[in-house]
Amino acid sequence: MNTIECTREHEVVAAVMSGRWPEGCDVELRDHAEACPACRDVVAIAPALREDLRYADVQVPAAGQVWWRAAIRARADASRAAARPMIWLQALTGAGAAGAALAGLSMIWPKVQGVLRFAPFGDASFQEALPLLLAVGIGIAAAPIAYFLAVPRD
Ligand SMILES: [Zn+2]
Repeated sequence: MNTIECTREHEVVAAVMSGRWPEGCDVELRDHAEACPACRDVVAIAPALREDLRYADVQVPAAGQVWWRAAIRARADASRAAARPMIWLQALTGAGAAGAALAGLSMIWPKVQGVLRFAPFGDASFQEALPLLLAVGIGIAAAPIAYFLAVPRD
């Protein structure tokens, strides 16, 4: 790479960045900028940089803060990626537990029906609605647990 250096480049940069280019500066500097390749590049590029600076109302955070945020984000991403299989395992375990509970309920259902037959509220319509009521009750009890297990905690 061939770098061209010029001793008057800073003058051209100052003139362009302050908005004095080309009318506000002396003729000798303009003539130099036309003849010098380094200053010609500055004149070509610096107005675009000046426009960017005018519209840029951005405060760039310190490098240490950027690094710290990136490290925290990388650690959180890694933690989430590592916890993903555990969340699936917990969901499968919850589904298995619900299935086992339903299987156990269906096994003892005849005994429960026999007990309820002699209960004071054991009329026929209540006994018909009892499986649905039990399913709704299990769902109401299991929903917060399923939510707790399914939603990842940071
Ligand atoms: Zn020059």
